[in-house]
Amino acid sequence: MQDACYDPSVVQAAVDLANTLRPIKGEDALETVEQLRDFLDGHPEVEPPASAATHGQQGTGPRQLTRADLAEVRALRETVREVLERADADADAVGAAALINDGLRRSRALPVLRHEGDRWWTEVASDSDRRSAHLAATMLSALACVIATLGPARLGVCAGPTCRATFVDLSRNGSKQYCTRTCAHRASVAAYRSRRSPR
Ligand SMILES: [Zn+2]
Repeated sequence: MQDACYDPSVVQAAVDLANTLRPIKGEDALETVEQLRDFLDGHPEVEPPASAATHGQQGTGPRQLTRADLAEVRALRETVREVLERADADADAVGAAALINDGLRRSRALPVLRHEGDRWWTEVASDSDRRSAHLAATMLSALACVIATLGPARLGVCAGPTCRATFVDLSRNGSKQYCTRTCAHRASVAAYRSRRSPR
């Protein structure tokens, strides 16, 4: 379920959060509370566990998300995007680390030892009931683990000139430059055309 210290599905959730904003197209898929609910429903891996550090609150029922939650998650999205953008730039990786550490501190992140069946594992949870704090603790600690185990260059922004979507490369060789195969294909077609076009 978990590789090293990060859960790939949580890493992907962080990337998906950052990519709810498409800066070049000017599209934002996180403008309403309903869109936030859809995002969370689509990412159960960042759901706080029932026994999480919510001080024993059991089954809080259907999520009551508010405009405040939306504003906080949007602010987190900005942090996550900046981390993904800056980590890839060598000179800025220290800045990305500072952003992560600051975000973890503000989310009141703390390590938790968990047990299920015969398996033990540690994860980072938030000592806060805020939905955004749980997301911040989970996502930022996952990105921190990727940086610590694979290096900051694994976080990046798509090289597609009209894309700028973010990605995290968890592959073995770590040579990813584009967010998706579609973008990589588009770029290779464009390069082919520009080679063929008369100068
Ligand atoms: Zn792309």
